[in-house]
Amino acid sequence: MVFKATGAAAERGAGLDEVERIARSTNARTRSLGVAFGGCTLPGASSPLFALAPGTMGIGLGLHGEPGVAEGPLMPADELATLLVERVLAEAPRDADGRAAVLLNGLGATKYEELFVLWHAVLPRLRAAGIDPVLPLVGEYATSLEMAGCSLSVTWLDDELDRLWRAPADAPAFRRGNPGAAARRDLMLDVPEMDPAREATNATEADPGHPEASPASRAAADVIVRCLAEVHATLVTAEDRLGALDAWAGDGDHGRGMVRGAAAALDAGGTIAAAGAGASTTVLTAAEAWADRGGGTSGALWGEALRALAGVLDDQTAVEPVTVVAGARAMRDAVAKAGGAEPGDKTMLDAMTPFAHALTDAVAQGIGLIDAFRSAAIEAARAAESTAGLTPRIGRARPLAERSIGHPDPGAVSFALCVEAVGRALVEM
Ligand code: ADP
Ligand code: MG
Repeated sequence: MVFKATGAAAERGAGLDEVERIARSTNARTRSLGVAFGGCTLPGASSPLFALAPGTMGIGLGLHGEPGVAEGPLMPADELATLLVERVLAEAPRDADGRAAVLLNGLGATKYEELFVLWHAVLPRLRAAGIDPVLPLVGEYATSLEMAGCSLSVTWLDDELDRLWRAPADAPAFRRGNPGAAARRDLMLDVPEMDPAREATNATEADPGHPEASPASRAAADVIVRCLAEVHATLVTAEDRLGALDAWAGDGDHGRGMVRGAAAALDAGGTIAAAGAGASTTVLTAAEAWADRGGGTSGALWGEALRALAGVLDDQTAVEPVTVVAGARAMRDAVAKAGGAEPGDKTMLDAMTPFAHALTDAVAQGIGLIDAFRSAAIEAARAAESTAGLTPRIGRARPLAERSIGHPDPGAVSFALCVEAVGRALVEM
């Protein structure tokens, strides 16, 4: 629903702020509940993210493959329709009138006949509750790989959302009405033609070059690349464990996402450092690669963290212990700012904060950087393990918070592994 409304708004020429306002408004007016009859298997994994006892279903699953917040007995379509409609309507926004966009969505293994059997039971219940579905959709619109199950979503429309919901659209996975010959022509035919001259220009553009760097900063960049290599190797070894930690209450992708992010950062950072870039440019390049290629929330947050570190470094001066301290604090602050988590919310911040404090204290006491870093990394690992007792209050694990108790936060554990890896890779600069 949010993609449909924002797509229509952007197509109409709305600016980014306006599109954001519409995304928030659509989201605030949407309620959704799904049921799963079986878990999905992430590409590369050997077993499904969750399993259900025969005859049961998960209620309130997450579209990224998270298990339901509750389990219940499998039920016939009529009863399932009652459950979905009652629970979704119970949460209707206060100012809702009867106009609503409705989506009955298949999650991957539930096909059209089954969805229409269910729709046949859903529609009269919606009508009995005074809901008049506007251009309802029944089909596979947002799937969870091959998960069996379905979800019901209702967006209560106001005049603005009504227009956006009805607007013609022609996207590869969604079509509505006739968006007009011009739009179709853009979509089908306006593929930029590549002539050899243009390809050559693009190739030069792909190498943006880098600012001049001093020998000291280039030496630091080499150390940074060695650290990235150790971080990557460590994450490869820990990938399955991080994925399993994330599967307790999240979507099981944390190991994969971290490995992808670190691999991209190592590749991009290694290339530009080898070309002679300084410390700041190397970290900034790694940050952008991690943000682009790393998965999920943690990929975006690691991108922000490394960008903040690059902001503390430069391409001229040697990296001093106090610079590293400032970098650790800037990384922590960047994650706090971008993610909005508080200490104790059970996120990577719960390892980053004690790490930054321990490093600050050790360096202030005059302990050499490498020893200071290694002892702060031990502190981070201890803090990460002790997140096991916490209840997640933010992020994808929050809806299933109870299940996470007793298991440490995956992002905190991976942060500790990363700083331990850096501690091993650090040599005198
Ligand atoms: P996703 O949750 O999008 O699947 P990952 O599984 O890769 O992303 O990462 C999950 C980790 O990200 C969590 O364990 C937590 O440490 C961290 N995280 C999630 N949301 C936040 C946030 N708002 N602030 C700080 N860290 C967060
Ligand atoms: Mg995840």
